[in-house]
Amino acid sequence: MKSVIIAGAGIIGLASAWRLAQRGWNVTVFDPREPVSEASWAAAGMLAPGGEIDSNANLAKMALRSLGMYPEFVRSLEEDSDVSIEYTSCGAMEVAFDDAGLAALNAKAERQAAIGIVSEPCRYRDWAGRRYLADAVVDPLSINEALVTACRARGVTIREHEAVTEVLPHGPVVRTLHGEYTADRVLIAAGAWSTTLMADLPLVYPVRGHLLYFEMEPGLLNTIVRSGHTYVFQREAGGVIAGSSMEHAGFDRTVDPAVAEDIHKRAAKLVPELADAKPADCWNGLRPATDVGPVLGRVGDTNVWTAYGHFRNGILLTPDTAQIIADQFGPG
Ligand SMILES: Cc1cc2nc3c(=O)[nH]c(=O)nc-3n(C[C@H](O)[C@H](O)[C@H](O)COP(=O)(O)OP(=O)(O)OC[C@H]3O[C@@H](n4cnc5c(N)ncnc54)[C@H](O)[C@@H]3O)c2cc1C
Repeated sequence: MKSVIIAGAGIIGLASAWRLAQRGWNVTVFDPREPVSEASWAAAGMLAPGGEIDSNANLAKMALRSLGMYPEFVRSLEEDSDVSIEYTSCGAMEVAFDDAGLAALNAKAERQAAIGIVSEPCRYRDWAGRRYLADAVVDPLSINEALVTACRARGVTIREHEAVTEVLPHGPVVRTLHGEYTADRVLIAAGAWSTTLMADLPLVYPVRGHLLYFEMEPGLLNTIVRSGHTYVFQREAGGVIAGSSMEHAGFDRTVDPAVAEDIHKRAAKLVPELADAKPADCWNGLRPATDVGPVLGRVGDTNVWTAYGHFRNGILLTPDTAQIIADQFGPG
């Protein structure tokens, strides 16, 4: 049986671990914290090529493929974990607040049509905009719980509270705070921390984003509503998520009340019912950003692979990423 060490127990590391274990690999995952405590815990969970992608053809191709894989990914993960995953193909409406905004939205729709992202004109409250029929939402907490459970059920060893300090490509050798390990292959999937683990990888850097959570009655929203990077949607039980921000604050995850207030104002413009509601929770996370998109695949002729840099769309891109890694690795 071939062995792989994965650095990082976020959604990308764990989905890859699960798929590799299904193919017979002996998998060990290391993480300095508990599994899924970073960006994958913080994410909103929109699966939103329409809302998120403008004109990047490669990203659109991967995103649409991954979105198409979601129903089967969820079904198979539920079967392996016995955890129910909240997933809804609810679509999204993006609105403009004035004529210039609408013209920009329509121009964006033309660019998107050229890369396969479909939208149609719509109205929401007083505003005109575009509806993205294919956009969807998954609850990241349910998917994360399912992945941890499915990994353990498939024999994956998750070594939490053990940070990888260095990956030496030849061997390959993985050094952690507690020892030195070798395996047939190593996968670096440590999100915003990935390039601290091995020399000469394309740089990844953290872009912080805050989210707000409101306890509301179910039935307020049946779709994502958004304007640019402001978005609001409702989970089945009623909780409303509103986001977000894009902050260059290093690895600091202190919640910033001024950012929270700004998101509240923007969200209340889209959904006036939120104006007088008090947020029940506010948190943030660190998106793994690169200047080249997701960094996926083998590093030169070494036995080290990478899967990081999914930035704003890591939840969306998870099924396709795990499939790409599993296909490149082959049977264990
Ligand atoms: C506010 C916010 C909203 C978002 N909303 C969405 C959304 O709606 N839809 C969407 O698709 N995406 C969304 N994202 C983006 C998404 O969360 C990320 O792209 C995705 O979670 C990245 O997953 P990951 O596993 O690569 O990183 P992470 O989840 O950050 O996991 C990396 C893991 O590596 C571990 N690690 C760190 N250092 C080491 C080390 N030395 N050794 C071993 N392990 C290490 C960390 O502890 C962590 O567990 C959002 C992100 C944020 C912050």
